[in-house]
Amino acid sequence: MMLPLPLGGAYDYAVGDEALRPGDFVEVPLGNRLVAGVVWGAGDGRVDMAKLRPVAHRLSARHLPEVSRRFVDWVAAYTLAPPGAVLKMAMSVPSALEPVPPILALRLAAAPPAFKDTAARRKVMEAAGRLPPLSAADLAREAGVGPAVVKGLVEAGVLDVVELPPPPAFAPPDLQAPRAELSPGQQDGADTLVAALGGGFSVQLIDGVTGSGKTEVYFEAVAEALARGKQVLVLLPEIALSAQWLDRFRRRFGVRPAMWHSDLGDATRRKTWRAVASGEAAIVVGARSGLFLPFHNLGLIVVDEEHDPAFKQEDHVCYHARDMAVVRARLGGFPVVLASATPSLESLANVQAGRYGLIHLPDRHAGAVLPDIVPVDLRRYPPPRGRWLSPQLVAALEEVMAAGEQAMLYLNRRGYAPLTLCRTCGHRLQCPHCTAWLVEHRSAGRLICHHCGHHIRLPPKCPECEAEANFAACGPGVERVAEEAALLFPNARIAVMTSDTCSGPHAAAEFVRRVSDHEIDLLVGTQIVAKGYHFPMLTLVGVVDADLGLDGGDLRAGERTHQLLSQVAGRAGRAERPGRVLLQTYQPDHPVMRALRSGERDAFIAREAEARRDAGMPPYGRLAALILSGADVGIVESYARTLAKAAPRTEGVQVLGPAPAPMALLRGRHRRRFLVQSARSVNLQALLRDWLARAAPPKSVRVQVDVDPYSF
Ligand code: ADP
Ligand code: ZN
Repeated sequence: MMLPLPLGGAYDYAVGDEALRPGDFVEVPLGNRLVAGVVWGAGDGRVDMAKLRPVAHRLSARHLPEVSRRFVDWVAAYTLAPPGAVLKMAMSVPSALEPVPPILALRLAAAPPAFKDTAARRKVMEAAGRLPPLSAADLAREAGVGPAVVKGLVEAGVLDVVELPPPPAFAPPDLQAPRAELSPGQQDGADTLVAALGGGFSVQLIDGVTGSGKTEVYFEAVAEALARGKQVLVLLPEIALSAQWLDRFRRRFGVRPAMWHSDLGDATRRKTWRAVASGEAAIVVGARSGLFLPFHNLGLIVVDEEHDPAFKQEDHVCYHARDMAVVRARLGGFPVVLASATPSLESLANVQAGRYGLIHLPDRHAGAVLPDIVPVDLRRYPPPRGRWLSPQLVAALEEVMAAGEQAMLYLNRRGYAPLTLCRTCGHRLQCPHCTAWLVEHRSAGRLICHHCGHHIRLPPKCPECEAEANFAACGPGVERVAEEAALLFPNARIAVMTSDTCSGPHAAAEFVRRVSDHEIDLLVGTQIVAKGYHFPMLTLVGVVDADLGLDGGDLRAGERTHQLLSQVAGRAGRAERPGRVLLQTYQPDHPVMRALRSGERDAFIAREAEARRDAGMPPYGRLAALILSGADVGIVESYARTLAKAAPRTEGVQVLGPAPAPMALLRGRHRRRFLVQSARSVNLQALLRDWLARAAPPKSVRVQVDVDPYSF
């Protein structure tokens, strides 16, 4: 029996008379409560049958398919998470297992007995004769009478109570809806995908510049899978922000797909979970957790923006949804499609090794040209003191505003200023719970920790030297850039788009509408503006600080910055109007800037890949991080020493650490990190399991294993 508990493995229970099969949902006693779980298989017979508690009862007619159970086991073994923690993701809506209450309705009895006739009763019978079966309340409303009249007719036997089948939760997609005429290159790609659907497991990477029609191409595969009666899962990095994607889907398939993300209410989650399990939901578009839905008959997964770091979950079960999508497809024996304008180095390496197929779309649709990307050397053309926009960028903004077009300024920093310090003593305002500065959000009148949410008002005195408040805001955030833009362009309609100003799907959709309808001239935003939006009048993108994210000694920094800036740049000039991108940088000769300017992505990635190979880092070597955390720094450090002494000394395995983790203090917990690096031939999971078994942590220390960490 597997229970969806964060620490659990399999538990043994006695099975009574009821015939149970693996995959059945059951309720079992645990301590003094009942918990829902799944029959996983027969026990190994090592426990004394007489001591086992019995299963309480079977929960519903639903069943967790074998492939879903194998997937849970696989993910648990790979990530070293307890299987119960993985199962918890598959059983994320416990109430979905409750029986569905029947829908009762009233209709005229076929042979009604004699009854007392009144005008009110006649109205009800007239309505019941004219309309399909309705609930008592609806029927009373339709007939324009009180509920007692209807009730009286039921008691008199004139109206029968019937049970209605539940209404369909999701309308089936329309496969005949008109579709775009594909270009020859797009059609080749679509043909490849459609052919793949006939042939079991495979991975196809669509590598195409922004605007090349990747979505149109994979929609063809979606249509084919649906036509074959299969369910389809499309994973998007930030589902809440994809109103434009949903519109396109509706235009192509005539319906809204089922959606799966963290912003859904309980009733919707329940409805969707059930419809996925029954097969009624033919297509689901979801964030990474959609992978764990109990699909009845899944036949295709698409991972759009496959390079996006949002696919990596870094708490509880640390997994990468792209990689686990590939595993899920292999277990299910069907194809998976990855799409990106800037594919991950991992996926490109898999193409090179011949493991993944490649569909290349090098051109923008309808002859739209890629924007011109020009670095602006801030050493030669610095902005005025206390300003952040260089003369070049200001001049370009002037042209665009004069032409009545739109511009976007991109800076991946929420708030007004990333650092606030005391002019008297130099003290920096810091979060007491995290290794992080407090970020001033002037619009909210607060300083906020972006890691734990701790916030304060600007203090009247410096907490360090107690001098009267005399704080300096250092560096720019989006609010400050918007302030500068408003000074330069007092007539422009300027809006700031960040997770602060646009949280939730409705706010995001409204923002997108305002930009599309040209109610905004100048958009200032963080990386949420970089995602897949298509704004035809947007012709200039200014990257305020292109160097942000390049330092820090992270081996993935170059790749990540290149991806992010390519995505941002892709927002410019998506229609007839050509676009321009200015990158403000102090390192115009950095390989990332060169690659962006020349468009020579492949040469850049090849060099990055070489650096990874030389360092023995993924995808050429294996890597796992072990993060120990606890409130008491002494206990954490002492356990770290114990673990270090027990570290594996295997040939081909290198253990680095313990060292302070990148966030050495987070939400009040002290964090130390080990990195374990090995050749690809080493079974890293077995090695980590042995190691942790040799030195179990004290109760107050949490050990988080992250196989394939995103940053290294
Ligand atoms: P990508 O996903 O590669 O960024 P999209 O699929 O979003 O590209 O296509 C970019 C734009 O071009 C969209 O507005 C899309 O509707 C349009 N488009 C792409 N291919 C075609 C086509 N064959 N016919 C008509 N419009 C197309
Ligand atoms: Zn904090």
